Amino acid sequence: MLERSDSALRPHLGYTGNGIDRAPAVRHDPQQCAALASHPASRFYVVGGDLVALRTGGAGAPADPLFTRAEAEALGPVRETACLGVVEGTGRFAVGLDPAAMEAPSTRPDLLVTDLRRIAVEGLVPADHLPLLAEAKALLLWHARHRFCPACGQPTTVADAGWRRDCAACGAQHFPRTDPVVIMLAVDGDRCLLARQSRFTPGMWSCLAGFVEPGENIEEAVRRETFEETAVRCGAVQYVGSQPWPFPMSLMIGCVAEALTTDLTIDRSELEDGRWFSRDEVLAMLERRHPDGLFAPPPIAIAHYIIRRWVDGTLGD
Ligand SMILES: [Zn+2]
Repeated sequence: MLERSDSALRPHLGYTGNGIDRAPAVRHDPQQCAALASHPASRFYVVGGDLVALRTGGAGAPADPLFTRAEAEALGPVRETACLGVVEGTGRFAVGLDPAAMEAPSTRPDLLVTDLRRIAVEGLVPADHLPLLAEAKALLLWHARHRFCPACGQPTTVADAGWRRDCAACGAQHFPRTDPVVIMLAVDGDRCLLARQSRFTPGMWSCLAGFVEPGENIEEAVRRETFEETAVRCGAVQYVGSQPWPFPMSLMIGCVAEALTTDLTIDRSELEDGRWFSRDEVLAMLERRHPDGLFAPPPIAIAHYIIRRWVDGTLGD
């Protein structure tokens, strides 16, 4: 297993580099948490469903995703508030609004309501906010989907500063979940295997990916998903890096896998197409100069990072 420090990933890979102090002592103490939330210096990220509220910047300036508590609560009905932690001595919270309030057309020219993919791809906010927005969105979406106890069906309530939901009826405690997804580049010498899903932007090709299933480890999930989707058998699996992916609440685990076979049978229920690409062709796709207009995912995505590391020959570094 190869490891690289977060700082090595941070310049390119979106949503990584979360340096917040998650302040467990504050989270576990309702009084401390309430005091921090009421402190005038504390700031709130505002999320509703898949959308994030930003305060627009001046000409050419980045947008600001932070609001005071009063500003945040004035934007719509609040469903949940969670404590993300402490940054430079001040509290950071996530406010979940009713998605309908976010989707309604805004009459305020100083507000931009948009999704987190666009915010990352277009660099709409300073990069330090991306991992915190990812934390806020994934956590609040988990709340939205766990209002009723999976064990007994009764309503649950927020506990532990937004990091747990409790069921008074049966006593069960529920914790925020993160779903592991393997994303892998199968490699055969100087060729790699890329694929397209029908929902991709025309011309974009990426790594294969799939959820880790119960009862398998990362390497087994890489081999199974690759075989199911393309019929390619893989041997050695090398870890490259990982990335929080808040769509809705995944952890992308990036790997490179040694292909043992190369004949392709594409699962058309999962993929629109898949084929082997030469290193030169993939380099042209990364640099957006492929003669047929094909391209790789943008630099914020771990697929880009994995492909780039393979093309550059830096996987062993
Ligand atoms: Zn229950």
